Amino acid sequence: MSPIRTHGADLPADAGHVPGRPDHELAAHLTYLARAFKAPTIGAVWAELGDQARAEGWSHEEYLAAVLARQVADREANGTQLRIAGAHFPQIKTLEDFNLDHQPGLRRDVLAHLATTTFVPKAGNVILLGPPGVGKTHLAIGLGLKATAAGHPVLFDTASGWITRLTAAHTEARLPAELKRLRRYRLLIIDEVGYIPFDTDAANLFFQLIASRYEQGSVLITSNMPFGRWGEVFGDDVVAAAMIDRLVHHAEVLTLTGDSYRTRQRRQLLAKDNRADQG
Ligand code: ADP
Ligand code: MG
Repeated sequence: MSPIRTHGADLPADAGHVPGRPDHELAAHLTYLARAFKAPTIGAVWAELGDQARAEGWSHEEYLAAVLARQVADREANGTQLRIAGAHFPQIKTLEDFNLDHQPGLRRDVLAHLATTTFVPKAGNVILLGPPGVGKTHLAIGLGLKATAAGHPVLFDTASGWITRLTAAHTEARLPAELKRLRRYRLLIIDEVGYIPFDTDAANLFFQLIASRYEQGSVLITSNMPFGRWGEVFGDDVVAAAMIDRLVHHAEVLTLTGDSYRTRQRRQLLAKDNRADQG
């Protein structure tokens, strides 16, 4: 039996110390160790980084740090990928791709602060208001992506999607369980509140969702309706007021303005075509 086996009860005291081992045996041993440690990146990079370390005269500590840093970076990236897939974003839109020049009235310091996602562990909320096409969904996804990158589980759906989900849970008498399950998502995104008015049952379910998140987990809501018209959306001024109360207690409310980005781009293209025709 090989004296440097590192598993089993008969582990020699110097199991990890293998000076003078033939290269091929050492390579196999490192591959085994990386797998046992569930660190595939270490298995993939130790040789290449070892060459680089020798060529550039790194200390042992520098080499170890470089190998571990690669493993940690991969693990974080994989975790973020999983969270992005789990969030069910309708598309990928980043804050970096959002053109702030189209929103001169948007408080940039507030947006920059939201982008740090420190509101998520504090169970703070975000409300994005404004007419269609001004970038509410874009910002909601962009902030959601930041949250996934910061390690927070996120779940995105439209308001009607949330109602479908909650109605199903309610019908099967598992609404409390569903609301509890949703707590593991640190940020719930509810897009397009207001496009479709809620009936009484839907408004009631929606209220329960918001109430269950209060000071427990973050909600990000987008709406084309100003708060003053949420009574129409929910068919009841009292329910709407109670909900707004809970939502805005710890919240940033950002109002987007202006023309639809899509129409504006189309107009600009048309204007360019016209100039080209004339010129
Ligand atoms: P809303 O949700 O407010 O109706 P969207 O977020 O769906 O608007 O925006 C409509 C389209 O215009 C999307 O493709 C979005 O990426 C784009 N868009 C809107 N505003 C901006 C902006 N300021 N910078 C870049 N793209 C934008
Ligand atoms: Mg939208």
